[in-house]
Amino acid sequence: MNYVFALTFFILGAIWGSFLNVLILRHNTGKSPTGRSGCMSCRSTLRFYDLVPILSFLALRGRCRSCGSRISIQYPLIEFVTGAVFALAFYKFGISLKLVLIFIILSLLIVLAVYDFKHFILPDFYMFSLILFSVIYSAVSGVSIVNIILHGFLTAVPFFLIWFFSKGKWMGFGDVKLALAIGALLGLPNSLVAVALASVLGAFFGVAYVLYHTMCITGFAFSSKKVSIKSEIPFGPFLIVATVLVWFFNLSEIYLRFIGL
Ligand SMILES: [Zn+2]
Repeated sequence: MNYVFALTFFILGAIWGSFLNVLILRHNTGKSPTGRSGCMSCRSTLRFYDLVPILSFLALRGRCRSCGSRISIQYPLIEFVTGAVFALAFYKFGISLKLVLIFIILSLLIVLAVYDFKHFILPDFYMFSLILFSVIYSAVSGVSIVNIILHGFLTAVPFFLIWFFSKGKWMGFGDVKLALAIGALLGLPNSLVAVALASVLGAFFGVAYVLYHTMCITGFAFSSKKVSIKSEIPFGPFLIVATVLVWFFNLSEIYLRFIGL
């Protein structure tokens, strides 16, 4: 029976994910998030059977039905990820009112991660919503408001110091706010484990990124884009991936046992 529920949450999540795609795409463009979707190249309106999450993209092999231009892999990817984390959240937390809160927080995390990845900005509207719902989630889970605020600020302090002393060069202020939200959501020491994991993920990705681009520049690999090693990598997406991993898989317990605490 659980499989039926998990599959249902995956499908609902994937449908919800296509709405998150629209939110990400239309943020700051002045377009209403509720208008009908159309192809970015030829403007032809999509039919309902072109809007089935994941499957439409596969059926059309990633191209527009009318003009044949490529559809971004972002669409099926976000749909799949949203479906997967919704199904996982159901497995981990079961059906309760709290699950709705968790779905809201996961949605905000997905929008923020993708937007930061594409534009190097964590939009305030989604960030403040994340802080608000993280506080509500922890309060509903029985954490006192004093502790929620304290853990939020303690997690954000190192980020604030890096932001302050590098004058925003090494760390954006968005990351400071994100760290505050993660502290409120996970609490100490879990939030710091998430930060540590994010640093490891970011370092691995950074090394791979520099290696790949060095190969492109020296002609060992091909890239259609003009590349330079100076391109910055946002930290937000790594923080968010690490947060979900720590939250869902009790990674902090494993980590703390590993370092002998
Ligand atoms: Zn088209």
